[in-house]
Amino acid sequence: MSERIRMNSPIVEMDGDEMTRVLWRWVKDLLLLPHVDLKTEYYDLGLEKREETRDRITAEAAEATLRLGVAVKCATITPNAERVKEYGLSEMWKSPNGTIRAILDGTVFRAPIPVRGIAPYIPTWTKPITIARHAYGDVYRNVEFSVGAGRCAELTVSGGGEAETRAAIHAFSGGGVVQGVHNTDESITSFARACFSYALDTRQDLWFAAKDTISKIYDRRFKDIFEAMFEAEYKRAFADAGISYAYTLIDDMIARAVRSEGGYIWACKNYDGDVLSDMVAAAYGSLAMMTSVLVSPKGAFEYEAAHGTVQRHYRKYKDGERTSTNPVATIFAWSGALRKRGETDGLPALADFADRLERASLDTIASGVMTGDLFALSSLADKTAADTEAFLRAVARRLAD
Ligand code: NAP
Ligand code: MG
Repeated sequence: MSERIRMNSPIVEMDGDEMTRVLWRWVKDLLLLPHVDLKTEYYDLGLEKREETRDRITAEAAEATLRLGVAVKCATITPNAERVKEYGLSEMWKSPNGTIRAILDGTVFRAPIPVRGIAPYIPTWTKPITIARHAYGDVYRNVEFSVGAGRCAELTVSGGGEAETRAAIHAFSGGGVVQGVHNTDESITSFARACFSYALDTRQDLWFAAKDTISKIYDRRFKDIFEAMFEAEYKRAFADAGISYAYTLIDDMIARAVRSEGGYIWACKNYDGDVLSDMVAAAYGSLAMMTSVLVSPKGAFEYEAAHGTVQRHYRKYKDGERTSTNPVATIFAWSGALRKRGETDGLPALADFADRLERASLDTIASGVMTGDLFALSSLADKTAADTEAFLRAVARRLAD
């Protein structure tokens, strides 16, 4: 074997749960360790360890990400009542992704991984559409009431040494509902910054869409913050990079997206991003073929797969059955993190390895060897469904060539 690629500084490695924890080990053993002298700072975010450390481990992993700048994360269980019983938890620990995002204050960018033989449902989408979802506020932090006939709802804003502001929302003649939502300039600003810097980083055009014709103050604030930041800080850099930024109405954006060939970043308000990222994932094929990266305005990047821990497959695996779980999103989480580390540390060999690893994975699928989920979608005439290990071994052979 030729010499392994050296790393200078470590990346943060966050291990996880169930089937993806199994994939994690296999990807490292078969694809990474033979080629890279891997340097990581390891944090076990598996549910047992989170329980044992009273979830301190999750915050520590996030802090380490701020310190080291690059992290790769395995999918983890977000506990619910069943998981509390299953794992004998002392508390229903919060979603690790939520905890990490709160510390990194980041924006999540999700993009499909196109591959030959899997046609998107929208045939013109030959390049990936990256969805950037603002992950704070709006309807996700709402206050809402059910109201009866004869009630009057009004909006009141007070404090801050200013006179109270009031406005009527509605006088109800019959029953109905009211809802209050908010966002903050600080959060919108860091969202905008993440979008502009990720567009530059990946050299893709950026679109932001909202509904400022109807929401003349609320959505308008988003539009204005993006516009002001672009004019003041990014216009020049975008021109130099040959990319563009534009705002449009959300309905116009959806029509444009359907007619487009992809290859851009679509920045979405919280709810739009929630809904549209599922639509985009489904239209391109599968959640197992999506990359996901959390970009922090504090300058850190955390790479992960977009799917969960694939519990149903793990049950089979534990029963000794072979499973055909797709490891591509996990492989791309590693390649994303290693490429970023290669760039930040000036190690072209490491970035080049990340490229080769991704190409070997996609070439394997294009050659007809794929996991069961893709087998069901692939239009290739000559294809075989492989179990996870057989697929990984096929990728490993290509990588070694
Ligand atoms: P999931 O892990 O995404 O899996 C749902 C289904 O999607 C699977 O049963 C499987 O369908 C298919 N699938 C997902 N990933 C696949 C892959 N790599 N290869 C092949 N098929 C794949 O969602 P879940 O089972 O509802 O959630 C399990 C756990 O994951 C939960 O405890 C949840 O909290 C956690 N979760 C974590 C994250 C994260 O850490 N980022 C995200 C979401 C969910 P078939 O069964 O039909 O084959
Ligand atoms: Mg959703």
